[in-house]
Amino acid sequence: MPITTDEVERVDLRELFRRLRGRRAPTRTTAGTNRGYLTVRVNLQERRLVLEEAKIRLHTTTPHLGGERWWAQCPRCDRRIAILYRLPWASGFACRTCHGLVHRSAVAGPVERARLRYLRAREALGDRQPLLGGPLPPKPPDMHWSTWDRLTQRLKEAELQYRNAFAGAARGPVVADR
Ligand SMILES: [Zn+2]
Repeated sequence: MPITTDEVERVDLRELFRRLRGRRAPTRTTAGTNRGYLTVRVNLQERRLVLEEAKIRLHTTTPHLGGERWWAQCPRCDRRIAILYRLPWASGFACRTCHGLVHRSAVAGPVERARLRYLRAREALGDRQPLLGGPLPPKPPDMHWSTWDRLTQRLKEAELQYRNAFAGAARGPVVADR
């Protein structure tokens, strides 16, 4: 059974890049991980990030709606990524593929897959502790209404699929023999 991405230390840089948007001076700050926080040194001007002594190159792309999107470059395979992973027994951060990790949904059954999709749809709306059937979080101030509408629609669909998958599993498999 492969190791899944939620079982290891994970640094999602998207929140960091959002926070530093437009900053050009070198900055010392923290990046959130699933274990807490790591101290980072960022120089957006020179497109460099230092994460616990690991030097990581940064890139930008321009989405067609404008603005700029920041990426880290995987130190091993040079792919553009937003999330870096670290294994407890290996040093260094790298992308999911370089560490041979899979998403939990890849090893999950249909109900679990539907549940993960539903939770991801809630997280995309800024819901940090997604509660099943809970109220929608307030719209993040920097999110466009069109994005909000698209994401809430996706959440509705994911919730329906999850309920259907769950109801199907609760009925149990159809047994043909008697
Ligand atoms: Zn890689």
